[in-house]
Amino acid sequence: MGKAKKELSVESGITDGSANSFDRMNDSIKYNPLFHRILYLANVVTALMVYLAKLTNSSKDPKLNAMHIFIILIVFFVIDFLMYRVDYFTSKNVFLVFRAIEIIVYEAIVALIPNLMIVFATLCVLVTIFSIEYMLYNTHFTKDYIFNRRFFIIIVYVASAVLGMKFRTETETICFIFTQIGMIFASFTIVDMIISINEKNERKIFKLTLEVSDIQDTNEKLIEYQKKIESTNEQINYQRIEMQRTNKELAQVNKETEAQTKVMSFMASTFDIAKCIDVLTDSIMDTKLPKLCAIYTEPDEYINAHGNFTVKTNYTSVERRLRKDIEQIYTDFKSSTHKSKIYSETELVQFKFIGDANINSVAILPLAEGQKIYGIMIIASDNAEFFDKGLNYYEASVAEFNISVKNSKLYLMMQDMAHKDGLTGINNRMYFMQLFDAAVKKAKRTKSSLSVALYDIDKFKSVNDTYGHLAGDAVIKTVASIGNKYAEENGGFVGRYGGEEFLIVLPDKSEKEALPILETMHEEIKNTIVKHEQDNIKVNVCIGLTSYPNICDEPNMLINRADMAMYYGKEHGRGRLVIDDTELIKE
Ligand code: GH3
Ligand code: MG
Ligand code: MG
Repeated sequence: MGKAKKELSVESGITDGSANSFDRMNDSIKYNPLFHRILYLANVVTALMVYLAKLTNSSKDPKLNAMHIFIILIVFFVIDFLMYRVDYFTSKNVFLVFRAIEIIVYEAIVALIPNLMIVFATLCVLVTIFSIEYMLYNTHFTKDYIFNRRFFIIIVYVASAVLGMKFRTETETICFIFTQIGMIFASFTIVDMIISINEKNERKIFKLTLEVSDIQDTNEKLIEYQKKIESTNEQINYQRIEMQRTNKELAQVNKETEAQTKVMSFMASTFDIAKCIDVLTDSIMDTKLPKLCAIYTEPDEYINAHGNFTVKTNYTSVERRLRKDIEQIYTDFKSSTHKSKIYSETELVQFKFIGDANINSVAILPLAEGQKIYGIMIIASDNAEFFDKGLNYYEASVAEFNISVKNSKLYLMMQDMAHKDGLTGINNRMYFMQLFDAAVKKAKRTKSSLSVALYDIDKFKSVNDTYGHLAGDAVIKTVASIGNKYAEENGGFVGRYGGEEFLIVLPDKSEKEALPILETMHEEIKNTIVKHEQDNIKVNVCIGLTSYPNICDEPNMLINRADMAMYYGKEHGRGRLVIDDTELIKE
């Protein structure tokens, strides 16, 4: 506050309480052209009056006539005018000396002029004006200066009065002295008035200056507050933008988490790997918005026998090329690394499938069961910075997928174990019965045929006895797999019914249609040599065939009837195929 006030004071010319306080007023007197014009006008008017008065006629001193006074006035006027024009009056001393001479000379003239009223009055006015200016000029209104100058003026006036007595009548002298007193009084009063007005103005200016200073102070504070508010606003704005960005990111993370949770729960709920791949790739396309998402898995007995490749993209030509190249890409990737990899810029050249499509970054993630890679996931984007935040999301999805695949395989293996016979790998009796019940129901519902054959290895005990149990096992496996082959080829299924007894079911086949199939199968069994160690073993079987509804219209009896037909064969020479109708028995 104090500092601000001081700066303001310098600006307005108030440095302290000394002489400089009134510079403003001082300047106005020194250079005020109006004041000087009044002065010159008074001078000229006085000169004119003197000229018109023709002084000499009535003057007591014949040496001073109107022309002399006129010339003196004009000379002083011209000098004054020139000094003012060339700025000589800026020097305080030049001005004071000049004015002092002028006042003395004019006052002398006034003293010498007899009572010619108009000339006298104008000269008195002129002298009064000079006196006022002399007292005030460059005084800074300090009391000492003004007192000194008043003293000087009084001396000049008194001297003039004394001089005047010599040239005037008594009455004139009294008038003259009173006029001189009046002039002194007038000039002093006007100077006092100016000083007083000036002081008032000064006080006002000082007060205003203080107010201005206060206002400026307040303004400064306001500006400071404004700046603070602006900076706070900026910060708030910045924080708002940050929050919006964070919110957006959070929303995206939520979306991703939600999508991932959905995919995970789906994958946990199914053992259908192809469906899992479909759902996973769709979810990635929807959530992360890449241009392409693909999953390739190697051929596998549990997942699929031919390998699986799923591609999600809008670039059809890219998909076509990728389908062609995928196995090579998989092989190259598998042989180069076991870790996820991001490809960009020049590395993309190796991927011919990109072609002229707008793809600027590619990521490949391995699908692995433990250390064994069994497939890859490919993500491609048009954005070169697409993977800048890492592959965590995809890696988490892939990890979940790997678990899902592992679970599915385990499940399928367990299912296999539960359904398949341990030795032969064909359906065990329990699972066979489930399939058989379903086939019976379907045949009944659709009124379609269902042929059932039971076959048993002839004299198997002697195989065991001759070649040993392991050789016997090998024979059982061979005979079972031949039966399985014919069943599968003809849309049927087999089951191990007993030790070396097997059942074949051929849905939609009448006994006539089933017969040639079974005959061919019988031929193959008979002609197959089972090699076990050094032994070449040949076996024959007895086959009993029955069929719904042509031979047996009671489906629950089908197995019994097939067994009976087979038993009939055993009893009648073995190595035979017997149809459950004595009429149709084929030798
Ligand atoms: P048939 O011509 O009358 O059928 O005479 P067979 O000797 O085959 O008599 P049967 O069918 O009654 O004999 C079955 C034999 O099969 C009895 C058993 O020792 C043997 N066997 C059963 N299951 C297995 C097996 O899993 N492995 C082996 N090696 N032998 C088995
Ligand atoms: Mg047998
Ligand atoms: Mg048997």
